Amino acid sequence: MAGKKVVVLGGGIGGVVAANRLRRLLPREHQVVVIDRLPLQPFPPAFTWVMLGYSRPTQIVADLRSLRRRGIEVLIDEVVAIDLERRRLLMTQGEQEFDYLILSPGAEYGTGEIPGLAGAWTFYHLDGAAALQVELAQIKEGRIVILVPSVPYKCPAAPYEAALLIDAHYRRQGIREEVEIHIFTPEPQPLPVAGPEAGTALAQILASRDISFFPRMQVKAVDQEAKTISFADGSQASFHLLIAIPVHSAPRVIREAGLIGPSGWIEVDPATMATSWEGIYAIGDVTYIPLANGLPLPKAGVFAHGQAEVVARNLAAQLEGRSPAWTFGGQGQCFLETGFRRAALAQGDFYAHPAPRVKLRSPSPFWYWAKRGFAWWWLRHWY
Ligand SMILES: Cc1cc2nc3c(=O)[nH]c(=O)nc-3n(C[C@H](O)[C@H](O)[C@H](O)COP(=O)(O)OP(=O)(O)OC[C@H]3O[C@@H](n4cnc5c(N)ncnc54)[C@H](O)[C@@H]3O)c2cc1C
Repeated sequence: MAGKKVVVLGGGIGGVVAANRLRRLLPREHQVVVIDRLPLQPFPPAFTWVMLGYSRPTQIVADLRSLRRRGIEVLIDEVVAIDLERRRLLMTQGEQEFDYLILSPGAEYGTGEIPGLAGAWTFYHLDGAAALQVELAQIKEGRIVILVPSVPYKCPAAPYEAALLIDAHYRRQGIREEVEIHIFTPEPQPLPVAGPEAGTALAQILASRDISFFPRMQVKAVDQEAKTISFADGSQASFHLLIAIPVHSAPRVIREAGLIGPSGWIEVDPATMATSWEGIYAIGDVTYIPLANGLPLPKAGVFAHGQAEVVARNLAAQLEGRSPAWTFGGQGQCFLETGFRRAALAQGDFYAHPAPRVKLRSPSPFWYWAKRGFAWWWLRHWY
């Protein structure tokens, strides 16, 4: 087959795996291009380490441009439009045609037009985590609120992990009794997709650490001056420091290209990640995959990674005249740090029927060191 061009939009977790895997599998006559606005790519599971000063921001990023030495074309630019008809991407500087396109642009952050939410702190991006580190270091007393304003959001375990790590941080300083930690979420339980057993287990861990958990609380507005949050049920909560998970949506460029379905995300074949457009695939946070229990597949790096492998291997097979045989099976796991160098592991089969089968393995030093090792490996292996 004559040389083809595969373009990967996004060099984050899914994109970097897809580009690397394609380059390893495809003969050089085929071109692999990855486009991202950011040259330095973070490892998001380590944002909580930055938030608490355990890692510096520079220690948890890798340079996407290093992929060039492997024969991958890396373009640092913003994709501003996707022309599906003419099969090309418009960037701020030039255009890129493609034969095959892998969309891995993640999710866009916003405030969902919730008044006052823009003033909240967040650890959901690297700059936010670094800024929050300075703020948390100054706190000696008061109420810290972690607020989930909407679903879906990436890594459903992250707000709970943050609460547990903040708890451990102040316990170590001997001032935990002066600091209250509250979590408010519209969800009915922690990790709803994982089912009642995992949710109850996590709720028990939170309770054992004196972290107050308030489910079914839909924020309506935040008053940054009065330091209060108003909820849909008419109740209010006060805070000294508000940490919010951003409101997630599909990136603007994806919405404007007409790629999203009624879910607001790209709806893909759950096994192959194919979209309804020939030769265009979507992986990771930008996708929507409904599960047997009616909830969507969580937005997590472990899934972006697995989906990238499937798409890249199938594309390589196809370009070499073999039939694509790989399928994504919905298996995944996620570390959930609980502080004091321990982590739990949520692990399971998310495509299982009649509901995902997910187990929360008890916190242990083993999973903590596994996460540490994985972060180290990730930043060196893929970049
Ligand atoms: C605090 C936190 C903790 C987490 N912990 C875990 C965890 O423990 N385990 C786990 O599995 N997952 C975790 N995640 C989730 C994980 O990081 C995401 O699910 C994963 O990064 C999704 O990969 P992706 O490729 O879909 O998107 P991303 O990794 O977000 O990459 C998208 C890339 O596309 C680029 N991009 C987007 N639009 C454009 C454009 N128009 N032009 C150019 N470039 C563009 C962006 O710059 C970005 O680099 C965590 C996330 C957070 C925030």
